[in-house]
Amino acid sequence: MSKGKLVVLSGFSGAGKGTVVKQLIEKYGYSLSVSATTRAPREGEVDGREYYFKTTDEFLSLVDYNGFIEWTKYVDNYYGTPRKFVEDELAAGNTVILEIEVKGAQNIKEQYPDAVLIFITTKDAVTLRERLKKRGTETDEVIGKRISRASEESAYMNNYDYIVINDDLEECINNVQSIIISDKFKISNSNDFITEIQKGLAEEASK
Ligand code: 5GP
Repeated sequence: MSKGKLVVLSGFSGAGKGTVVKQLIEKYGYSLSVSATTRAPREGEVDGREYYFKTTDEFLSLVDYNGFIEWTKYVDNYYGTPRKFVEDELAAGNTVILEIEVKGAQNIKEQYPDAVLIFITTKDAVTLRERLKKRGTETDEVIGKRISRASEESAYMNNYDYIVINDDLEECINNVQSIIISDKFKISNSNDFITEIQKGLAEEASK
């Protein structure tokens, strides 16, 4: 059975990463890994859909049991990617999307060198601030904090394989999908196929 692909999507808060992920799942049927977190649910969030909401004790005991393929502390809360779901989906040959922050992405690349790391961003910093303002859900102080965090996160952008600008949503989704598809045709992902065809050709040639 062919092994599945891990796709890591990260991006600044306000870059529209959540919408991109949602539409990729709906349009192309990719598997989305639901993370565990110790942060409180926001309005409208459902346990098991946006996150598995855990107490700190529950989370840390999952860490002890090797229940996460990666985990980190972000702002004041823990976030982790459950191991079993990801491993089962990959074994079944599925493409799994992880929507995680920059340190988690780096950790995944170390463990899964074939993972595709994609960074979603606005075209510039001013647009990012405007988008955060437009949401209307955050105070100026919170917006300022998010921009400072984005500035820190930008130091990790070079670790990604691809950067996609989310100016036009449709175009952004098409570009991410193109990257996922192209990756499937990489020579480094085709070693088993090449071995098979070489074997077949050697057999045919000896007839
Ligand atoms: P939020 O609290 O806004 O939902 O998420 C905060 C940040 O944590 C976002 O950048 C999100 O992508 C990231 N995040 C969510 N789940 C995980 C996870 O399992 N691992 C890591 N490393 N980051 C995560």
